[in-house]
Amino acid sequence: MGQGKGLKNRGNKRGDVAERLAAVSEETGTEYRAIADYGFDPELASKNIENMIGVTQVPLGFAGPVTINGEHAKGSFLVPLATTEGALVASVSRGMSVATAAGGITARVLSDAMTRGPVFRVDGIEHGIRAVAWIEGNMAKLKDVAGATTNHGRLLGIRPFLNGRNLFLRMSYHTADAMGMNMATIASEAVCAAIAEGTGATLVSVSGNVCTDKKPAAINSILGRGKTVVAEAFIPKGLAEARLRASPSAIAETAMRKNLVGSAMAGSLGFNAHAANMVAALYIATGQDPAQVVEASSCFTTCESDGDGLYIAVRMPSVEVGTVGGGTRLPTQSEALDMIGCKGAGKAGKLAEIVAATVLAGELSTLAAQAAGHLGKAHGELGR
Ligand code: NAP
Repeated sequence: MGQGKGLKNRGNKRGDVAERLAAVSEETGTEYRAIADYGFDPELASKNIENMIGVTQVPLGFAGPVTINGEHAKGSFLVPLATTEGALVASVSRGMSVATAAGGITARVLSDAMTRGPVFRVDGIEHGIRAVAWIEGNMAKLKDVAGATTNHGRLLGIRPFLNGRNLFLRMSYHTADAMGMNMATIASEAVCAAIAEGTGATLVSVSGNVCTDKKPAAINSILGRGKTVVAEAFIPKGLAEARLRASPSAIAETAMRKNLVGSAMAGSLGFNAHAANMVAALYIATGQDPAQVVEASSCFTTCESDGDGLYIAVRMPSVEVGTVGGGTRLPTQSEALDMIGCKGAGKAGKLAEIVAATVLAGELSTLAAQAAGHLGKAHGELGR
C-alpha cells in the first residue's frame, strides 16, 4: 500500500483516524463500519498506537466474586476478563466460587524487579572481568545515573553473564506502579553509556535477550521478572466432590501427570493447565501488554491431596503488570482497573495478586473438569 496523505502518522485526531480508515477502505475495496465504531477520544491512544484506524472490540465479562486473602488484595473481587473463548469466564467463575466457599485464595508477591539485559562487546575474558569489577566498584554512581532518568524507577542491581567477547548485564529495577519496560529501557541506556565510558566495552544492544522480554525463557522462571507471585487454596473433600464433581486425589493425579510429567516430556516452560488463558483475558481487559503473556504463562501449578481435601498452589515467576502508564490510561482499560480497585498509584502489587488468584481459580476448575472428563462437554455446551 502506498503511504498516501491519509496514512501518515499525524497523531490520533478523530478526523485523521477517519481519513486513514477511508484510505484503507479505498485501497482494499471494503467498508469497515465495525472498526470505525469506537466510543472514546482516539487522541487518548496517541501514545499507544500509530496509524490508528479504529478499534478491535473484545467482549468483556466478569468472573467472581472471589475472596482473596493477599497482602495487597484483600476482600471480595469481581474480576474483568476480556476473551473470545466461550466457557473460559464460566470456568474461572466456577473455580472462584469453590475457592471462596473454601475460605478464599491466599496470595503474596515474593519479589518485584523489572529487568533489561544489554549486551556489550569486550576484547575477551580479561577485559570482561575488568569491566564487571568496574561495574561492581561504581554501583552507587550507576544507580544515580539511572535515577536521573525517572522519578519512580530505581536501579536495584546488575547481574553479569560473561560469554567470550559477549558481556551480558541483567539490570534489575524497581518500577513502582508501572510495568516498567519503557522506564527500565530509558534508564538502562543511560547506565550503558556510563559503563561504556568507564570500561571501554562497546554497547551492542540495550536488549541482549537475557532480559528476557516477550520470549519464553528459563531465566525468567528461575530469577523472576516483574513480580514473582504465589497463591494457594485448600478445598475440602466434600466441597470438591459436590461442586467440582471430582475427588481431590483425581485432581491431584491429573495435575501431577499433566502439569508436571506431561510438561517435562514436552520440554515446556509452562507447568500448568492454561494459565495463559486467565492472564491474557485479564491483561487485555486492564490494559497490560498482551505480549507479556509469554512470560506470565510460565506458571507452576501444583496440587496435593490428603485425606481432608485438595491443596492447590500456583507460582508465577514473571507477572509484569502496571496500574499506571502503558495501556492502563485508556478508558475501558481504566474502568476495568477500577472494577478491582487497581487504578493508579500504589496498586500494582494488588493487581499482581489478583492475577495469581484468578489463574489459580482457572487452574482449579480446568484440572477438575479434566479429572472428571468434562472438558469437552463444557466447551461444547458453552463455546459452540
Ligand atoms: P510508561 O507509560 O512508559 O511510563 C510510566 C510513566 O508513569 C513514567 O513517566 C513515570 O514517571 C510515570 N509514573 C507516574 N506515577 C507513577 C508511579 N506511581 N509508578 C511508576 N511510574 C509512575 O510505562 P512503562 O511501564 O515504563 O512501560 C510500559 C509500556 O512499555 C507499555 O506500553 C509497553 O507496551 C511498552 N513496552 C516497551 C518496551 C521497550 O523496550 N521500551 C518493551 C516492552 C513493552 P517517572 O519515570 O518519572 O517515574
